[in-house]
Amino acid sequence: MITAAQEVLKKYFGYERFRPMQQEIISSVLAKRDTIVLMPTGGGKSVCYQVPALVMPGICVVISPLIALMQDQVKALAANGVNAAFLNSTQSAEVQYNIETACLGRAIKLLYVSPEKLLSAGFFSFLKRLQVNLFAVDEAHCISAWGHDFRPEYTQLRTLKEQFPTVPVIALTATADRLTQKDIQEQLHLQDPAVYISSFDRPNINLTVLPGRNRFNRITDFLDNHKGQPGIIYCLSRNTTESLSQKLSAQGFKAAHYHAGLSATARAATQDAFLKDNIQIMCATIAFGMGIDKSNVRWVIHYNLPKNIESYYQEIGRGGRDGAPANALLFYSYADVLAMRKMLSEGDKKQQALQLVKLERMQQYAEATSCRRRILLNYFGETLSKNCQNCDICRNPPASFDGTIHAQKALSAIARMLEKAPLGLVIDVLRGSRSQQVLEKNFDRIKTYGAGRDIPYNDWQSYLHQMINQGLLEIAYDDAYTLKISPAGKEVLLQNKSFALVKFEPNAATEEVAPVKAKSKKEVLKDELFERLRVLRKKIADQQNVPPYVIFN
Ligand code: ADP
Ligand code: MG
Repeated sequence: MITAAQEVLKKYFGYERFRPMQQEIISSVLAKRDTIVLMPTGGGKSVCYQVPALVMPGICVVISPLIALMQDQVKALAANGVNAAFLNSTQSAEVQYNIETACLGRAIKLLYVSPEKLLSAGFFSFLKRLQVNLFAVDEAHCISAWGHDFRPEYTQLRTLKEQFPTVPVIALTATADRLTQKDIQEQLHLQDPAVYISSFDRPNINLTVLPGRNRFNRITDFLDNHKGQPGIIYCLSRNTTESLSQKLSAQGFKAAHYHAGLSATARAATQDAFLKDNIQIMCATIAFGMGIDKSNVRWVIHYNLPKNIESYYQEIGRGGRDGAPANALLFYSYADVLAMRKMLSEGDKKQQALQLVKLERMQQYAEATSCRRRILLNYFGETLSKNCQNCDICRNPPASFDGTIHAQKALSAIARMLEKAPLGLVIDVLRGSRSQQVLEKNFDRIKTYGAGRDIPYNDWQSYLHQMINQGLLEIAYDDAYTLKISPAGKEVLLQNKSFALVKFEPNAATEEVAPVKAKSKKEVLKDELFERLRVLRKKIADQQNVPPYVIFN
């Protein structure tokens, strides 16, 4: 079977050999196994279903979220001599009828459909008259209401397995966090799928975070050093895309803006101008980018903090696809966190809580004190054997100290609470707080209770964040977001492996280069007083079941 696949790869796509993992994925599909593929953008996912479609008798049905994507793919396939077609609701009845007839006449090997079309009345009975050999769900993360790009119609795709229980399904996405993966598997009702995750490392992308002040000047400075190089500036609001591109144009840059509020023709024209290098700078909302194949994007700037690491990773992944160096620059300000929190304060409670946890991880990335690439990859379940040397932190590392004892105290407390406590509660226990939650669960009786009393709350918070960022701890996506100890954490706890921490400095990440000032005795006392007040507030709040800030405000 694999020799047949290799022949197809050569004959239709002109490639001599498969890229890493493509061959395994194709074997899995040819063995009719449900398969999940998590591979970065540009990794070569399409071949993973296109080749099997051509090897097997019958037709492969590809579900794709964007009409523009479908058109591009079908055009590219046709150019390679593959019989492919797409169906969506924007086509005339006659065109659709002709394509359906061609499918029935077995003249089509790959049929691209929008999810709306797939779920439209009578379409399943049409498919049952064909010999469907494979369903490919492209951009499968659209199924997850927890990620970006959520498409409600995608959640209906579970009917595929009900209607066609014996036809294998391959789901493909560039979004790899475990939650999205679990969601894809569950929602599509995949049976014991083979999961293939290729490395998400993009070592050619240089990562930098800058304080979110004087953004415009910082951008023009950056552009002066990257003359003529194409890039994208992602902004949170449509207004910002417009005002920014105006200001840049006024300074002589070739900039344009792109967002979902523009007409389809305007969007297509702008996108085209960017693809052809007629404009250098695309100021855009996240509406821009999915499926856009431009390999020479040299930089991606985030004017605002993205809502989670998945989105961030996907967006910076549009830079440097040709493998040459590219820059990812993130502006970070606490005001952006607040704005984002406000945006996320809609929808059902459970979703909100999850979105907030994800936002917090994004914030931790922005405030990081250790290799940023390690943090990104760690988020996707990958470990990096050594620091990258290609992010701002690696290039200019902050002073660290031996934090092994601190880490062991925290890990031991977490272990003794049987990994059933969220971050705040772990700190309460370490600091010997008598909050209701601590007392109720008898956590004041565990051995490490109060073992970190000498360290202020905010410092503990920073240390725990560092432990999460460096993969000693994981946040479980359960109802309480409890902290779990990873294998790397166990090495520190049980095998005394050393662990470095960076001293917590408030706002270090957002200040230029803030001179470090030791706290005066008065300030220390004030801190302590505030800490006691906080605990008191929390206690009363717990009793009255209201948020702490309501008390005394
Ligand atoms: P993805 O969907 O993962 O973003 P694509 O399927 O669009 O990526 O593929 C990205 C590029 O890689 C395409 O130009 C494709 O032709 C190329 N490609 C895929 N497989 C191979 C291969 N085995 N050898 C060389 N190039 C490949
Ligand atoms: Mg693709």
